[in-house]
Amino acid sequence: MSDSTPWPHFSESELTCHCGCRRQEMDKNFLTKLEALRVAFGKPMPVTSGFRCPMHNAQASHTGLSGPHTTGKAVDIQVSGEDAYHLLAMALAHGFTGVGLSQSGLRQHRFLHLDMIEPSPGRPRPFVWTY
Ligand SMILES: [Zn+2]
Repeated sequence: MSDSTPWPHFSESELTCHCGCRRQEMDKNFLTKLEALRVAFGKPMPVTSGFRCPMHNAQASHTGLSGPHTTGKAVDIQVSGEDAYHLLAMALAHGFTGVGLSQSGLRQHRFLHLDMIEPSPGRPRPFVWTY
């Protein structure tokens, strides 16, 4: 955590593509909204996936080379149970329009995908899905 960025609750490393390319091209407006959500939530929101380069996204997701994480306007947050319930409610109130729920299996692997991508053909918003 650092006071030197406008989004002190999120680290560069957790927002950076995990493939080794070192790209971190998160949308600044999105991060401002994510930080506001984090402050409202009042608890840690570990980002398990932030920006993904197109190649990594095609490997990690069925959404291919242009999925939400490649826009810099999407994150996966490690959260489950009661915390997931409250975070989901707050995310909707904060204007997040893409919600993906992965809430089965080990608790540490459960997550909430949140995004604010522009709607496009085949990728409407608002939208909720499960994995
Ligand atoms: Zn990458």
